[in-house]
Amino acid sequence: MRQVIIVGSGPAGYTAAIYAARANLNPLVIASSVEFGGELMKTTEVENFPGFPDGVMGPDLMVKMQEQAEKFGAEIVYDDVTKLELEGDVKRVTLGNGDVHEALTIIYATGSAYRKLGLDDETRLSGYGVSWCATCDGAFFKQKKVAVIGGGDSALEEATFLTRFADIVYLVHRRNKLRASAALQDRAFADPKIQFLWNKEVAHVYGDEKVTGIGLLDTETGEEKTLDVTGMFVAIGADPRTHLIHDQLELTAEGTIKVDGRSSRTNVEGVFAAGDVIDPTYKQAATAAGSGVVAALDAEKYLAELSPELLALATTPAEAAAV
Ligand code: NAP
Repeated sequence: MRQVIIVGSGPAGYTAAIYAARANLNPLVIASSVEFGGELMKTTEVENFPGFPDGVMGPDLMVKMQEQAEKFGAEIVYDDVTKLELEGDVKRVTLGNGDVHEALTIIYATGSAYRKLGLDDETRLSGYGVSWCATCDGAFFKQKKVAVIGGGDSALEEATFLTRFADIVYLVHRRNKLRASAALQDRAFADPKIQFLWNKEVAHVYGDEKVTGIGLLDTETGEEKTLDVTGMFVAIGADPRTHLIHDQLELTAEGTIKVDGRSSRTNVEGVFAAGDVIDPTYKQAATAAGSGVVAALDAEKYLAELSPELLALATTPAEAAAV
């Protein structure tokens, strides 16, 4: 039995792991089988994470966080959680391979999942021209025309990245004003390969086996026109990943896990949450990391107040070796 199990391996999960490991809590990190490292594994240069004045590649940053957690004794399992039982003093975590792990505390830091437009053909052509990740799929669109959907930071980052490959990147936004930060807007407006299409919603995705175009509805005139593109990158935000716990933990109106004030405490004793899964607003790598710190400290405090009988159920490797 563990003192702490951390579910998730983005900046929140790994930072919680660093703090919990340094507090000698012997944390186990369930890092996911495919999406370990979280969203930053899919980004390119991260320019706003403190400590990297020249920027750092997202995957490099996550590997460094992982190494730092492991250096202090965190153990990492690359599998997915299929079931969580959170009630009671001892929490149970079931993995895809059937293993069941127990812990006195859980830090839940599963981040968020990309939003979809909700069109049937978007799903059908996913992987065949429809993508949610320019860094993963951008190279398939050398000298092609592609569209990026959305008006936030993600959409502009994706669009700018795609200009490395595509001849023209259409930025399709449903309004005539971007939500993205000024720095990203300035860069995109100055890029001759990016063309902005305002007040447009995607009504159709065309193509039998691969995307050949998208139907754009003008929200002001109601007119629909086809845009010839072979790629559509959807960058319209993300929703907190709560499917494993939505019937066990209280959620907010925005769908994030509800925590007590500025803490990471959920409505279930011994269960803490951190990162994008509790944050409907800021969603930055640095804020997620800070949130992971809070969760590890809250878990440490909770454990320190448990009865000796309960604590004795979970042994650290050093204690186990000494027995
Ligand atoms: P976001 O800020 O929520 O922006 C989503 C964009 O997609 C908005 O422009 C929104 O339009 C549009 N949208 C939403 N649903 C849509 C739909 N069904 N159809 C068409 N358009 C739709 O999401 P994000 O860009 O992924 O960013 C999420 C968070 O991560 C933000 O806090 C952002 O600052 C942060 N982030 C930061 C960086 C960075 O600092 N480098 C990079 C990426 C993300 P409206 O504007 O009309 O609502």
